[in-house]
Amino acid sequence: MLPTGVTIDGLTGAVQPSTGHYVKRLSDLRGLFQDERAFDAAVSERGDPIVYEVREYRVDGSDLFFGTTTMYPGQVAGEYYLTRGHYHARDDRGEVYHVQSGSGVLVLENRAGESRSVALEPGVCAFIPPQWAHRSMVVGDEKLVFLWVSNVDAGNDYREILEKGMRLIVVEENGQPQVKPNPRHAP
Ligand code: ZN
Repeated sequence: MLPTGVTIDGLTGAVQPSTGHYVKRLSDLRGLFQDERAFDAAVSERGDPIVYEVREYRVDGSDLFFGTTTMYPGQVAGEYYLTRGHYHARDDRGEVYHVQSGSGVLVLENRAGESRSVALEPGVCAFIPPQWAHRSMVVGDEKLVFLWVSNVDAGNDYREILEKGMRLIVVEENGQPQVKPNPRHAP
């Protein structure tokens, strides 16, 4: 392994050089929004838009890797576009997000029933402790771009959040994001 300087474009999320990239479209997020009828309508009327994309820089043998998440603004019936959300498979692995541009909300919860939210604004570095599930929402009209740094062996476990939902949702009310309890959360 050799040291490298990797260029991050804070406005687009471009990573140069990059070793991986994936895209999540609205149809990939079925079941995550409150209003399923509005979700189906949004998928077809909007042409199944990209909600977020993830680019990474990873080197074989390293304990750390990093990359960017770029979220595109939008809502489904007042609920902001969001990421799938996950626990780390290893319970001793946290993560760091550093916001590059745009605005968002990070919601977190643990299996002891606690939940928190962190406002994501440029310059904010969000600390995600081990054992806290995390999901990001983009708010406002701009892209949200954040840099993340994680352990390669952390493992992203999406299943539990997919089945239960998260305890907090973020909706627009009077033009402002409001963090509220999720009425559909399965205890
Ligand atoms: Zn994570």
